Amino acid sequence: MKIKVGLLYGGKSAEHEVSLLTARAVSQAINFEKYEVYPIFITKTGEWRKEGQLTAPVESIESLKFGNEITTPNTISSFLPQQGDDTTQLDVIFPLLHGPNGEDGTVQGLLEVLNLPYVGNGVLASAAGMDKVVMKQLFAQAGLSQVPYVYFISKEWKKNQDALLQNIEENLKWPLFVKPANLGSSVGISRVTNRQELIKAVEYAFKYDRKIIVEQGIFAREIEMSVLGNDEPRCSVAGEVLPTKDFYDYEAKYEDGTTNYAIPANISEKLQEKLEDAAIRAFKILDCSGLVRADFFVTDQEEVIINEVNTMPGFTPISMYPKLWMESGLSYPGLIEELIHLAIERHEEKQ
Ligand code: ATP
Ligand code: MG
Ligand code: MG
Ligand code: MG
Repeated sequence: MKIKVGLLYGGKSAEHEVSLLTARAVSQAINFEKYEVYPIFITKTGEWRKEGQLTAPVESIESLKFGNEITTPNTISSFLPQQGDDTTQLDVIFPLLHGPNGEDGTVQGLLEVLNLPYVGNGVLASAAGMDKVVMKQLFAQAGLSQVPYVYFISKEWKKNQDALLQNIEENLKWPLFVKPANLGSSVGISRVTNRQELIKAVEYAFKYDRKIIVEQGIFAREIEMSVLGNDEPRCSVAGEVLPTKDFYDYEAKYEDGTTNYAIPANISEKLQEKLEDAAIRAFKILDCSGLVRADFFVTDQEEVIINEVNTMPGFTPISMYPKLWMESGLSYPGLIEELIHLAIERHEEKQ
């Protein structure tokens, strides 16, 4: 019997468009001989829409945005199998959502409560991995090196802007990176070199989150690792991001084609081992499952500094996460299959 997979994509997040690209790519790679595929689309405003079974790969992104009308009450239950109805029971959900309301544990919590197996990280790992401040605090616990940083919420900024600016200037060296605490794809991130730019960047980041983080900028190589597995995760080869501009911003990631990549990265065996050790430690301290892409800075002295992890990394065939696995001998369809298998395995172990 075929495994019934619900593809959950779109989402109420600044990374909505990226998710659509992922959903199209997965529909093109998933083995329809093995899986029955059911698309579930979440609109930008957070409405859930379902359509019947998908029987062929999707060509256009537009066709994924189906259902202009909400055909059913806006409740998750209308998208789920009815009790005891074997014909519509989904076996596993594949959340292809990036950013808040999808990668952050909210959807994972919903799926837990519904007792549905799902691909990727659980509630805790997703939530902790989405918040850059919480993530950094846990990484510090795991003994991982990081850049110095400061964080605050919008209320504090409004009340004590001068004191916060002074604190930043005393503790961090320019250039600085200003980021919303909970986001991805570089949305809301600025690189700044003086106080005036810093104030603007903080105001801008607050458009996306009530909490922001200001990090000391580092001049270093950017190396990423893909981790796959549940309790015994394994690492891919390393990949290097070679931005040709100031930093790896949203346009460089998805639009302007200015970024170069080295896959695999040209690194020594010893550095590969150090990166693997750090990536696995990051995976374990957040209690991850399924997949994680760990992003590092590597200094001239080959010091490994963790930047962040992504619990649902970019997942099209041209994204770093799958590419690193392809380079390590695991194809894109093979990766999809392994992730689905890991989801079902984790669910069965919990029962
Ligand atoms: P994604 O989830 O897509 O990887 P993100 O929105 O979580 O991205 P980061 O990975 O934290 O954002 O940062 C985006 C990019 O900004 C990095 O890839 C790097 O190019 C640059 N960057 C971020 N922080 C620093 C830093 N402290 N020093 C130097 N460069 C940085
Ligand atoms: Mg990220
Ligand atoms: Mg991300
Ligand atoms: Mg990153």
